[in-house]
Amino acid sequence: MTSPAEILNLPKPAWAADEVGMLYDMAHRFMSEEIAPRYDEFEKNEMVDRESWLKAGAAGLLCASMPEEYGGSGGTFAHESAIIEAIGHVGVDGFGIGLHNSIVAPYILHYGSEEQKKKWLPKLATGELIGAIAMTEPGAGSDLQGVKTRAQKDGNQYKINGSKTFITNGQLANFIIVVTKTDPEKGAKGTSLIVVETDEVEGFERGRNLDKIGLKANDTSELFFNDMRVPTSNLLGHEEGQGFVQLMQQLPQERLQIGTGAIAMIERALALTIDYVKERKAFGKAIIDFQNTQFKLAELKTEATIGRVFYNDCVTRHIAGGLDPVTASMAKYWLSDLQGKVVDECLQLHGGYGYMNEYPIARMFRDARVQRIYGGTNEIMKLLIGRSL
Ligand SMILES: Cc1cc2nc3c(=O)[nH]c(=O)nc-3n(C[C@H](O)[C@H](O)[C@H](O)COP(=O)(O)OP(=O)(O)OC[C@H]3O[C@@H](n4cnc5c(N)ncnc54)[C@H](O)[C@@H]3O)c2cc1C
Repeated sequence: MTSPAEILNLPKPAWAADEVGMLYDMAHRFMSEEIAPRYDEFEKNEMVDRESWLKAGAAGLLCASMPEEYGGSGGTFAHESAIIEAIGHVGVDGFGIGLHNSIVAPYILHYGSEEQKKKWLPKLATGELIGAIAMTEPGAGSDLQGVKTRAQKDGNQYKINGSKTFITNGQLANFIIVVTKTDPEKGAKGTSLIVVETDEVEGFERGRNLDKIGLKANDTSELFFNDMRVPTSNLLGHEEGQGFVQLMQQLPQERLQIGTGAIAMIERALALTIDYVKERKAFGKAIIDFQNTQFKLAELKTEATIGRVFYNDCVTRHIAGGLDPVTASMAKYWLSDLQGKVVDECLQLHGGYGYMNEYPIARMFRDARVQRIYGGTNEIMKLLIGRSL
């Protein structure tokens, strides 16, 4: 197969050089050898097994951007990007380590006390702890201010009641950052993030592993909290009421990493499709010899190139500390929209075979759809961009 990493003939940005490139190669090998051969089984079970998480930890693929003193590899978002790109290029998009690495762990690094960092980050780096973040509730998705999960202080514990839904890694996770209201009167200012170590609490219950149309290898779950008791020392931040600000500060990276998955899948879809149309024949010639095929692929390759240049620039800015929330929203919305378009057009070029699950483009079609929904829908991204006008 043509290499997805090389399909666009672009020079590598500075951040992707040297050890980031080596990490990409290593992650690619790991995903190809350890995850891809078992991926059908993981899709059938609707989750990747715990052993694979531990293997990823042993291979240095968890917490790559966390400091070495906390068990990480001391990298930056460039390293996380390399790992997510390898996942996308190999086509094992349901392995939820992107969320664990670039969303969950950074909350602990940025808002955790020294004690919390020492306690939790090393275990997140080995895979002993599998991370999730629980914001969405049945009645509150786009409008996070509507969160109803309530945390009430009772001595040195919080008593938490409420429920969450659509939580990625929700069946496997034993380390969940829960968005709660510690003071419902104060709205956003009464929001706090509290860590739940699920192995250590009572009153925690997982609901169904939700039946999704795509990302089948990833577990997505409902969670229920019934008088769940958590030590007050599990609050993130020095005081209550910081949750909303913490969420807003971390969103650019969360949104950028959705863009990472998008650009990686776009490159894989193009690579697979170019190979396919060279092989497949109709009317006595290869599909690629029809002008429509060439024009379609020319358009997609051009747009993919624009997307990759934009993505690389966003990462450059993010590593330098300057990726603003509006540009991150643009990356999330535009790259995931483009992903949907590219995958759809590529499926069309596969004809009927594109609709068959045994062809990877079919799985990509199913997996791509949610990218426009989670992490803040693309409509919400446009709302945020609109506010900057
Ligand atoms: C597979 C999957 C994994 C997920 N993982 C997680 C996770 O790990 N953690 C987590 O907390 N959540 C997760 N989510 C939830 C996800 O973030 C929400 O589904 C998303 O934010 C949208 O919320 P909602 O589903 O309640 O839709 P709604 O908020 O009900 O939106 C419905 C529609 O209305 C539109 N809309 C809403 N408000 C506006 C507005 N102001 N202007 C214009 N249009 C608007 C939306 O764009 C959408 O099209 C996941 C979801 C899925 C499907």
